[in-house]
Amino acid sequence: MENLDWKNIGFGYRDTDYNIRCYYRNGQWGELEISSSKRIDIHMSATALHYGQEAFEGLKAFKGKDGKIRIFRMDENAKRMQSSCDGILMPKLPVEKFTEAVRRAVKMNERFVPPYESGAALYIRPLLIGTGPQIGVKPADEYLFTVFVMPVGPYFPEGFKPTNLVIMREYDRAAPQGTGKYKVGGNYAASMYEGKLAKEQGFSAVLYLDAREKKYLDECGPANFFGIKNDTYITPKSDSILPSITNKSLMVLAEEMGLKVEQRKVPYEELSEFEEVGACGTAAVISPIKGIYDSDNDKWFKYGNQEEAGEWSTKLYNKLRAIQYGEEEDKHGWVEIV
Ligand SMILES: *Cc1c(COP(=O)(O)O)cnc(C)c1O
Repeated sequence: MENLDWKNIGFGYRDTDYNIRCYYRNGQWGELEISSSKRIDIHMSATALHYGQEAFEGLKAFKGKDGKIRIFRMDENAKRMQSSCDGILMPKLPVEKFTEAVRRAVKMNERFVPPYESGAALYIRPLLIGTGPQIGVKPADEYLFTVFVMPVGPYFPEGFKPTNLVIMREYDRAAPQGTGKYKVGGNYAASMYEGKLAKEQGFSAVLYLDAREKKYLDECGPANFFGIKNDTYITPKSDSILPSITNKSLMVLAEEMGLKVEQRKVPYEELSEFEEVGACGTAAVISPIKGIYDSDNDKWFKYGNQEEAGEWSTKLYNKLRAIQYGEEEDKHGWVEIV
């Protein structure tokens, strides 16, 4: 793959050589299969298509300076997919099937893992869909689990630069007792409309408030939210946000760096008290935020010097990336070398 411009490939679908598949039929999961087809043959009455019975995951593999390929915390993704399975009545995929499929997908597409110097990575997309036909609203009796991969460019090809978020109270991503805590496609369909509006207006994402009272911060479209003040890393606790593995990791690193960590309800008013804020997720690790616009009250919250990310966000970002690329000791056993 010597002729790919790794640094500028961005985040988009790309073909690679192989994908891994596993079928659930007659009440049990089958063996992992290797495929080089990009297509799946699916019944037109599959539950995934009509009723959104599908869940996905997203994680990355990184090539280190030492040439070794590392996958970050895939057991956590496996467990989160199990939680999604429980949430929308799909048969639970064994953790070991998940991790073995991820390992194989990476290994078999090794030539697509970007080189260390590029800052790019191999994005891994596990997907579980209800394939069995139903027309009544009930779970399918057949499922397909697949893992495919693609190289993606560095999230910040021009440097670690802060962006703006927007609050729009007329839209919700997930209901208070709904499926917000599961990584399912339906949540994404529900967020596309306002996501597009936000982008058209120059914002990187919507910052959602809790849907019930609009008093507390929830999360940003596809990433968790955190704020830092008085040497404390603060991130919302809510039943309608997706438990981010990046956030979970940052909380551990923040504590090691001497910050206090609080996961609790975060009232809207606290936005005026934070010294730094950021969005976190696999795609960017941390996406630093320089401003939040409350569109309903025409009010801005501004952070830092408007040019660069804050000190703690930068430290946390560098630390987590260093672990992922094998430059820093992996004290917590977060990476697996394949
Ligand atoms: C996937 C996802 C995140 C980020 O989770 P990571 O495990 O850190 O990648 C955050 N919010 C939502 C809604 C997501 O779907």
